[in-house]
Amino acid sequence: MAASEFIVLGLGAMGSAAAFQLARRGREVLAIDQFSPPHTFGSSHGETRITRCAIGEAPYYSPLALRSHEIWRDIEAETGANLLTITGGLILSSPARTARLHVDDFFANTVAAARRYGIAHELLDTGQIRRQFPQFRVRDGEQGYFEPGAGFLRPEPCVAAQLQLAKRFGAEIRTNERVHRFEPLADSVLVHTSHDTIRTQRLILCAGPWLPQLIGPRYGALFRILRQVLFWFGVRDAGPYRPENCPVYIWELQGPDRAIYGFPAIDGPAGGIKIATQQYETTTTPDSVEREVSPSEISAMHRLIAPFFAGLTDHCIKAVTCLYTQTSDSGFVICPHPDSDRVIIASPCSGHGFKHSAAIGELLADVATGAAPRMDLSPFSLSRLL
Ligand SMILES: Cc1cc2nc3c(=O)[nH]c(=O)nc-3n(C[C@H](O)[C@H](O)[C@H](O)COP(=O)(O)OP(=O)(O)OC[C@H]3O[C@@H](n4cnc5c(N)ncnc54)[C@H](O)[C@@H]3O)c2cc1C
Repeated sequence: MAASEFIVLGLGAMGSAAAFQLARRGREVLAIDQFSPPHTFGSSHGETRITRCAIGEAPYYSPLALRSHEIWRDIEAETGANLLTITGGLILSSPARTARLHVDDFFANTVAAARRYGIAHELLDTGQIRRQFPQFRVRDGEQGYFEPGAGFLRPEPCVAAQLQLAKRFGAEIRTNERVHRFEPLADSVLVHTSHDTIRTQRLILCAGPWLPQLIGPRYGALFRILRQVLFWFGVRDAGPYRPENCPVYIWELQGPDRAIYGFPAIDGPAGGIKIATQQYETTTTPDSVEREVSPSEISAMHRLIAPFFAGLTDHCIKAVTCLYTQTSDSGFVICPHPDSDRVIIASPCSGHGFKHSAAIGELLADVATGAAPRMDLSPFSLSRLL
């Protein structure tokens, strides 16, 4: 029977980072994915992900984002890949907001995190936002948090670069091989795939939206899989939306019940600007999700956003679906499986995991190898959701 000290199941943002971090420590790693990552079926695609360091979701996330920025720069130096672009990041909100991003008090929490971790930032009133960022048609009373060190990551190159390094450090990478199930034993775990049965000392589950299927109904029910859509709309004049003029942004709107977020025009006028919102009503599965985006979804999105952007056209250049793996408190799960500490569950999604993924790879390598984790993992327990 084949054997490997560690198996990483799933090679999106989290699994590619974990495989790389284990391999660079000289450990024996077998990394398996059912597709050939980076691919467009899970959660780690769509050209860009916002990264920011003062994290409004909860105070314990900022060290992960700060550490990830260091790792992304190291990976860029090692591979020559272009992963992290700093554009600044703008968060817009107001007491009259009707939309909410991830948690209550996201804006106030962000400001508190910036102060706590000494992250450079500016607070802007409505007039300052209008003068500095006229592309955003802010309403009276809206306020801004501007973080100059925020920006965006390129998810597909991030995954590819970490897999390249994992391989360079000796990891075996198997693609187009599906794990059907795993069997924890007293001294090991058996992993049954479409091609093989493999014995391992530790299995790290980085299965993204496929996680519920792998961990069974009791624990799987703690995660909701949500279809999200990313839109690229045209702009009449790309100038104000060029990366040097336009930060990444998150906007808790007044009026609509959904927050929006987006990016500058990273591919010039022809590429348009990528904008998205989030839905929490309808669940799906990665195997049954509707991957096509309908014309009515496009026109509904245009109606939602058009009042808020100067020079936006109704031409949708493209639209892509992507999946959130959502917990009830929008937090991550990074912990041993309740039935076997040889199996580690890594589900850092709820729509905000990418920016932390490089550091989560380090944490997963710590947990898997029995090293002291470099941060307290108790906020990420599965048991808090039971
Ligand atoms: C629309 C959208 C926008 C987002 N925006 C941001 C953002 O701006 N900033 C931010 O920080 N985060 C953002 N996120 C969140 C971030 O992208 C996710 O946290 C992250 O990509 C999750 O990565 P993952 O590795 O857990 O999952 P995935 O990327 O889905 O990887 C899971 C992998 O496991 C494999 N797999 C699953 N089951 C099996 C099996 N049985 N056998 C073999 N292989 C298997 C899959 O093929 C897949 O490759 C966003 C997410 C989405 C969907």
